[in-house]
Amino acid sequence: MEAQESQPLDVAAIREDFPILERRVGSEVTPGTIGKDDPDGQQIVYLDNAATTQKPQSVVDAISEYYTRYNANVHRGLHHLSQEASIAYELAHDRVAEFIGASGEREEIVFTSNTTEAENLVAYAWGLDELGPGDEIVLSEMEHHSSLVTWQQIAKKTGATVRYIRVGGDGRLDMEHAKELIGPDTAMVSIVHVSNTLGTINPVSTLADLAHEQDALIFVDGAQAVPTRPVDVEAIDADFYAFSGHKLLGPTGIGVLYGKKHLLEEMDPFLFGGEMITKVTFEDATWNDLPWKFEAGTPRIAQGIGLDAAIDYLDDLGMENVREHEELIAEYAYDRLDEFDDVTLFGPDPGPDRAGLVAFALDDVHAHDVASIMNDHAVAIRAGHHCTQPLHQKLGVPATARASFYVYNTREEVDALVDAIDDARQLFA
Ligand code: PMP
Repeated sequence: MEAQESQPLDVAAIREDFPILERRVGSEVTPGTIGKDDPDGQQIVYLDNAATTQKPQSVVDAISEYYTRYNANVHRGLHHLSQEASIAYELAHDRVAEFIGASGEREEIVFTSNTTEAENLVAYAWGLDELGPGDEIVLSEMEHHSSLVTWQQIAKKTGATVRYIRVGGDGRLDMEHAKELIGPDTAMVSIVHVSNTLGTINPVSTLADLAHEQDALIFVDGAQAVPTRPVDVEAIDADFYAFSGHKLLGPTGIGVLYGKKHLLEEMDPFLFGGEMITKVTFEDATWNDLPWKFEAGTPRIAQGIGLDAAIDYLDDLGMENVREHEELIAEYAYDRLDEFDDVTLFGPDPGPDRAGLVAFALDDVHAHDVASIMNDHAVAIRAGHHCTQPLHQKLGVPATARASFYVYNTREEVDALVDAIDDARQLFA
């Protein structure tokens, strides 16, 4: 407890807002165990936050209040409930704009399903029109599949070429290589802000400058950045910036695409249908104002309201405090895991360009076996390629185990992880 007192966040108080963290689970899962406590089980240690975070009661309550008090479709009805729902949904866009420093406000904030859909939106709506043979799309070797696969496919459709900025042995981008690759043929640079496998914080504003010097655009994948540190899209000078609500205490089913207003105005819609039009005839249609032009059909109303509540919660904690807490926990985890000779840690050493997640491999033990033994200890971590298969090929491992931390995690939980890893080592020794 004493160790907690000097920390940037009051973790004990935060944990009270997350009833799920009290769950006691056994290692076996059947349809009958869903949502039930196992009296003989152990209290869950949730260290899979880079995959998705838990939700505070205030987020659950905001969604529940929408459904119980003002559920209606937005923008369609003049009736009372529809107006309330519309206001709440629109204000959620403003809240996101403020949170990430978008001065164009709601017009620059498009709600999507997730980061993946935001990537696809830009790749299709911008890429299909703007790219052709001779154009280059510059990615990095540490891109998530949501970016890598999407741009690969758009390149195949348009005849453009994908080039990859090398990742060095230290887990950082080779910036000399970036300078070589980003040239007159570059049309788009798409870069992950914080790597979900290596934890590297990439110099996205330097990359934005390099892209803009060549009249190229930059798309930044902020899925792991926005949840964990203050982000200002205008300070970065990102043309597009995307993230997912579910990784920052919000519900699933909502993501955000920020785009500079003039770019979103110039782009054609991605999906067509209701809500995104102004006038339709049998021959043609015209498009609604931003951001609705990019939100076809009934949008993610409950999810947008839930995301608004999640941002309220994070704002109350203070994103600087969130960042500091996560880095302290991750550094502690890194140091403790580093004590084992047979554990390999990936990504840069703890420091200013390293975020709060730790991917590791245990000699001669497959990551899935590691995760399964963790599960016997009720420690939830992720094992696999974390949607970065080419990066894993480069690292020379088929899979890694990954522990990732958030505002409610404690040092004691890191100790539980380390004890469980020690067990795994002994079991396979
Ligand atoms: N980019 C990064 C860096 C991620 O970590 C993730 C989620 N693992 C994504 C993109 C995709 O997010 P989503 O699945 O919510 O679309």
